[in-house]
Amino acid sequence: MNTNNGDTIWDVLIIGGGPAGMAAALYAARAMRSTLVLEREMPGGQIATTSEVEDYPGIKMTTGPELSMMMMEHAQNFNAEFSIGDEVSEVDFSGTIKKVCTTDGKVYRARAIIIATGAAPRTLQVPGEDALRGQGVSYCAVCDGPFFRDREVAVVGGGDAALDEALYLTKYASKVTIIHRRDEFRAQRVLVDRARKNPKIEFITSAVVERVNGESKVESVAVRELKEDRAYDLPLTGLFVYVGNIPNTKMFGACVEVDANGYIEVDENMATGCPGVYVAGDVRKNPLKQVVTAAADGSIAALTADKYLDHLAEQESPEEAEQDAENPDTWPTQY
Ligand code: NAP
Repeated sequence: MNTNNGDTIWDVLIIGGGPAGMAAALYAARAMRSTLVLEREMPGGQIATTSEVEDYPGIKMTTGPELSMMMMEHAQNFNAEFSIGDEVSEVDFSGTIKKVCTTDGKVYRARAIIIATGAAPRTLQVPGEDALRGQGVSYCAVCDGPFFRDREVAVVGGGDAALDEALYLTKYASKVTIIHRRDEFRAQRVLVDRARKNPKIEFITSAVVERVNGESKVESVAVRELKEDRAYDLPLTGLFVYVGNIPNTKMFGACVEVDANGYIEVDENMATGCPGVYVAGDVRKNPLKQVVTAAADGSIAALTADKYLDHLAEQESPEEAEQDAENPDTWPTQY
């Protein structure tokens, strides 16, 4: 690794600037820890591309980008620093001083790490989807919705995101068809009811999209209704894919253990098996993925990291600290 990031050793380095990472930054910085957040795209992660947020306590209604900026400014008020556009490519969590490399060759060093890398949209993996991405195929209604004023679009998926974003798209589109592979919806009942009452929304259930058609832009999708085994082309100009997410863990290699679906498993303190490495938000295995649960995870991870740093500082010598940190048997269990 080529250390060209000065001699700074951060107390807490947070990878990912979504709600989990920003809440972790707020709590770590407020605990007087030098704190750096690395975010590869824009502050907010998935909520930066979410149209409306109406279920974050105390905020009746806001947009994802607005909430993202509020969270970042809040953490910055306590001196957390952000490096936006810094993408992590490789890590070394083996010693007391952890190393984090970025795609442009920088190496950051820190005593504690919080992984809050979230998840990326899952794709349908059907012919035409990739070729027409950005030409009618979208994974972000808030970014691309305004391009579909008075047009017919479809949303694929039956979770909260699909229902939320279908409702949002009715502001622009003349018709929004929700295509879902089952009759039952994973989404909250309140969202399904609201969509059913919306005159611009139609449902095609127990159906899948098999192909996206169009030369240079989307013209239709090939739909198959599974119960009748009936196939037809549905004309439209936009296809919004909301079929869940895949956790972003590739850059951690063998440094963290993941489950069969790629999510990192942690204990109730957000601790991994690796001393000084904590996890928060959608990248971890948890039963509920919401802004509020991601933020809660971030606060727990930061305070666990804070206790770990206290523990490190209590060591008599750097050598002892190094040995102790690498030997979980010497650790108080709550870390
Ligand atoms: P999700 O809850 O995992 O739902 C994914 C949906 O896509 C499911 O309906 C699933 O169908 C369908 N699906 C999966 N793979 C598919 C494929 N290959 N082809 C067709 N359909 C496929 O994902 P999400 O809606 O993105 O939400 C992710 C998390 O964020 C959830 O925990 C959700 O509650 C949360 N979230 C909350 C809000 C909110 O509170 N307002 C908004 C957005 C997201 P099956 O049901 O048949 O598996």
